[in-house]
Amino acid sequence: MPEVPDAVEKAWSDVVEAARRTVADGLVVGRSGNVSARVGDIVVVTPTGVPYGDLRPQDAVAVDLDGRQVAGELAPTSELPLHLAVYRGTDAKAIVHTHAPHATAVSTLVDVLPPIHYVTATLGGAVRVAPYALYGTPELAAAALAALEDRTACLLANHGTIAYGASLRQAYERTAQLEWLARVWLLASAAGAPRLLPPSDLATAATRLSTYGQDRRSAR
Ligand SMILES: [Zn+2]
Repeated sequence: MPEVPDAVEKAWSDVVEAARRTVADGLVVGRSGNVSARVGDIVVVTPTGVPYGDLRPQDAVAVDLDGRQVAGELAPTSELPLHLAVYRGTDAKAIVHTHAPHATAVSTLVDVLPPIHYVTATLGGAVRVAPYALYGTPELAAAALAALEDRTACLLANHGTIAYGASLRQAYERTAQLEWLARVWLLASAAGAPRLLPPSDLATAATRLSTYGQDRRSAR
């Protein structure tokens, strides 16, 4: 294996930290879920079958965009086809896949998570549910990529979540927002028939949210 460049080492550290956080935050149990980050044409990704707490700095796993391993001895996650499809099909720089409980529950009930809160706009609009396909398959990867059109997150039917972003932090925040939205929708629908936001209100919220983000950056 060639020597691991600094950027890949840094990405590995970020990937491991995010993966550990998915467990700590209750978004996955044990070794389920997976996290990746793109550095140029290299994808740094969590390995399969190793508890995240056991991963060391020298364990970095990296593949190229065709899935050929370019660093590491451990095998990459079995969901590698899903990650690679999203990197090839979007401008994603980081991806978080979880089995977050509320989002996974919603994935068994509907084809689209109804737009119950304006935060939906941060994910590009009402979140779709990709039809069920076996984990690790090209069919699941294709279904997820289709459900992600014009969105930065989707649900995978009877499986979990996938979200991407320009950074691991953004992908993680979107995952957490999706889980929160799913929880709110479950709470509201358990109590009655929730009032939903029309597309025009979501579009207005999207504009406001993008302005809000720019204000924060310029204030730093
Ligand atoms: Zn999964």
